[in-house]
Amino acid sequence: MLHLLDHPLATHVVTHLRDSTTKPATFRTLAYQISLLLALEVTRDLRMREAEIRTPLERHKGSVLAQPIVVVPVLRAGIAMAQPFTDLFPDVSVGYIGLERDHTTAIAKSYYCKLPPFDSKKVMVLDPMLATGGSAVQAIQLVREHGYARPTLACIVAAPEGVSAVQALDPDIPIVAAALDRELDARKYILPGLGDFGDRLYGT
Ligand code: URA
Repeated sequence: MLHLLDHPLATHVVTHLRDSTTKPATFRTLAYQISLLLALEVTRDLRMREAEIRTPLERHKGSVLAQPIVVVPVLRAGIAMAQPFTDLFPDVSVGYIGLERDHTTAIAKSYYCKLPPFDSKKVMVLDPMLATGGSAVQAIQLVREHGYARPTLACIVAAPEGVSAVQALDPDIPIVAAALDRELDARKYILPGLGDFGDRLYGT
């Protein structure tokens, strides 16, 4: 299940993220902005409960959030996507999965995993670049081993290969992306893409 953000601001921000002249400070701001738009999209189905309150004028039956969330950024690039969730949502826990991509084989290896209790929370994996899908699939599997079957995957740029890899694991995993790009190059970078997200973010 792939869902693409469909908003002029999302397209605008992704174009500037792609631009090789965009410097790390601006890149970080843009990464925050696109992650905020993604955060709104992936939390559309959060459970709500009725809340009876009193406005200055009368009684009112409103609704408030009733489902805490867990976001699991995939280190290191995923860190950039977590802040909008912690800024927006009152009840949020953050887990971390450390996966390192071997630059020659492009295979991701787990070096760190710390996940909070999931209980009845909604769990979302944050991985900005869905390239081969190797890191996303590993992260989803670690979340599954921790007891949550079908986390939502939020990414900024997806490649068809990565989407297929996640769908091969489970066709019902919701994937929400800001852009679906053309293909991977021989080094497994996304084309047109935006280069190495972590390097662009941290100026490395
Ligand atoms: N990871 C990145 O940061 N960029 C790509 O193009 C692919 C994976």
